[in-house]
Amino acid sequence: MRKNIVAGNWKMNNDLAATKTLISELIELKKTSNSEIMIAPTFVNLLEASKLLKETSIQVVSQNMHYAESGAFTGEISAKMLKAVGVNAVILGHSERREYFNEDDLILKEKVDKALQESMDVIFCFGEQLDDRNSENHFKVVESQIKNALFHLPSSSWKSVILAYEPVWAIGTGQTASPEQAQEMHAYIRKLVAEHYNTSISEDVSILYGGSVKPENAKEIFGKLDVDGGLIGGAALDAKSFMAIINSF
Ligand code: PEP
Repeated sequence: MRKNIVAGNWKMNNDLAATKTLISELIELKKTSNSEIMIAPTFVNLLEASKLLKETSIQVVSQNMHYAESGAFTGEISAKMLKAVGVNAVILGHSERREYFNEDDLILKEKVDKALQESMDVIFCFGEQLDDRNSENHFKVVESQIKNALFHLPSSSWKSVILAYEPVWAIGTGQTASPEQAQEMHAYIRKLVAEHYNTSISEDVSILYGGSVKPENAKEIFGKLDVDGGLIGGAALDAKSFMAIINSF
């Protein structure tokens, strides 16, 4: 059975004090929920977040990591360093990493491999640009992003993979994909996984939607058959909004 997951990507927001405040608000507001909840603070605040959330079911996730074990990679963070501060999951392939830091399918494949080798869960992001959608290439683009970074994995690795479809034109723009557009793409992705692996894997993998999800639109998007939750940017920075999205299931 696949899980419902709502993950908040805080990006380069919230210093240490703001991180502590937001986490205590989340703890205060959190009700019992059938969904898994994840938050991804910036690197320097992961340790504090892990400590504060240790006794809760909210999981702390990294926004990125390097593919190497260790070494001369100034400014980078390894999987082992993340695990040492209690972080067991990582977001990889976010469109901002692809666009501003030139992360391509090849680099992402290496990062995915390293994370899985270290027994971390991976939230793997992908999605088309507006031009791709306007030229009706969105299925092809998404297919190649997934195939290039993930389809070399053995079946056994898929229990640690969460997919996140994030159309780039919907991220931080206020322009959400319609629930029908999200469902259409999610069903397509599930079919791809079924064709390459099998239906047991495709039915078990959680596929999140990301792109301007807010309390006002979450229920309709999460109500679609193949949408198993969301990766939330802006609305995850406010405890009430984030909890309202989680409670939309
Ligand atoms: C994101 O950055 O992953 C995202 C979905 O952002 P937003 O919710 O702000 O569109």
